Amino acid sequence: MEERKALDKAQKPKATGDMDTEAFRHYGHEVVDWMADYLSNVGSYPVLARTAPGDIQLSLPTQPSKQPEAMEDILADVDRIIMPGITHWNSPGFLAYFGITGSGPGILGEMLSGVLNVNAMLWRTSPAATELEQVTLDWLRQMLGLPSPLFGVINDTASSGTMYALAAAREAIPGLHIRQQGMSGRPEVPRLRYYASQEAHSSVEKAGIVLGVGQEGLCKIGVDSSFRMDVAQLEQAIEQDLADGWQPFAVVATVGTTSTTSIDPVAQIAEICERYGLWLHVDGAYGGSAAVDPTMRWVLDGCERADTLIVNPHKWLFTPIDCSVFYTRKPDVVKAAFSLIPEYLRNTESADDAVPNLMDYGTSLGRRFRSLKLWMVMRYFGQEGLAARIHEHIRLGQLVAQWVSESPNFELMAPTLFSTVCFRAHSKGLDDEALLEALNERIMNNINAAGRFFLSHTKLHGIFTIRTAVGNLRTTEQDVRDLWGSIQAELARIHEAQ
Ligand code: PLP
Repeated sequence: MEERKALDKAQKPKATGDMDTEAFRHYGHEVVDWMADYLSNVGSYPVLARTAPGDIQLSLPTQPSKQPEAMEDILADVDRIIMPGITHWNSPGFLAYFGITGSGPGILGEMLSGVLNVNAMLWRTSPAATELEQVTLDWLRQMLGLPSPLFGVINDTASSGTMYALAAAREAIPGLHIRQQGMSGRPEVPRLRYYASQEAHSSVEKAGIVLGVGQEGLCKIGVDSSFRMDVAQLEQAIEQDLADGWQPFAVVATVGTTSTTSIDPVAQIAEICERYGLWLHVDGAYGGSAAVDPTMRWVLDGCERADTLIVNPHKWLFTPIDCSVFYTRKPDVVKAAFSLIPEYLRNTESADDAVPNLMDYGTSLGRRFRSLKLWMVMRYFGQEGLAARIHEHIRLGQLVAQWVSESPNFELMAPTLFSTVCFRAHSKGLDDEALLEALNERIMNNINAAGRFFLSHTKLHGIFTIRTAVGNLRTTEQDVRDLWGSIQAELARIHEAQ
């Protein structure tokens, strides 16, 4: 109590106006203890939050505090109000979308980045932030087996990176000067077209919306039986568009598509891009990280020819959200698309391009010190440690795929290349598609309601498909065995009840 009083007294504004550093030390220890307990027990929470829409909002005051509040009370409310509304992405049972991990070293890096609070918009606004980003991304390049030189910057998300890539591609179209003159009201500007497979992420289409190319500017190319872009169809579409007066300008290939983790034939697509003078952007947000495992390096075959490439350490390299790596072989073009320096940001160091100013490679001026957490993750685990962890996740995925394919009541819906498995229940004699969809949706919803696991779904060729995606460091073989047991038991229970 005495201690609490002393700390509360420390809340009275002092010279700095900030929390007293002794109070900071005290609560810092408390918060780190809380974090360690959370990480030890994260598997004991229901993975999906059980609150109803609006519950959290209703538990919070509608007006802000006028008077200072005690840190004890604020932290108690994290437990009381916030935690019930958390979906536990760091849980071993989180197998939905793409499982991820905020690992210990990554979380510590995030904490340090918070206390330093630097804004790495210019080299001079924190030389270490700019230079560490360059060095860390060069290390990652080496881990992924990509050739030098390759310029890298870290963005918040792959969605931003893909938009920047396509803006650079638009800038690279000769003679149109779209950055300067825009596109509307210019009859001399042909309609622009870019290409991606039907399985590409929605961020590829969103980029077209932002860039004024429009959703019709994205031509979606069909896929083969393994959900890879059909290259012959791509070439036909480009030819047809040229004949119809469109201006093709880019192709987006994906290494690890969101639904099935298929890998587009990047080398063949690169061939076409080179032939038609198109920008090649590769979205390796999920699959790219697997290349740190030397046995998986092949997944990036052909990516050395990409103009831009994205890999998300916040997906499968154990780095807390947000951290999306954007590589380019053409930094000058990306810079030409985005650099705009108001007077107050002019500086001598970068006048002769001796150092990069990271604000020049995208739309956001301010940027967090994200490389710190990635650097700490890469050093703490080392390439071999990262590779071993990814290898293990892939082993667990393959195990699930094997159980599915050996079961007479289930079927695989796509090849399993990484740690993500697409499957459905398909009991003997039950072939009505509407009934199968209802059955699988019920299995998934019942598993999710039970709390230990969280699975998500997709539709493949219109067919409801359950996905499990191992990406959390805490997920063990026992977890996936238990999951498979629960899924089988769920199917049996549903059939018994009928
Ligand atoms: N690309 C792929 C293949 C994805 O699966 C996702 C998200 O799952 C994204 C891009 C978008 O990633 P972000 O959330 O970093 O924008």
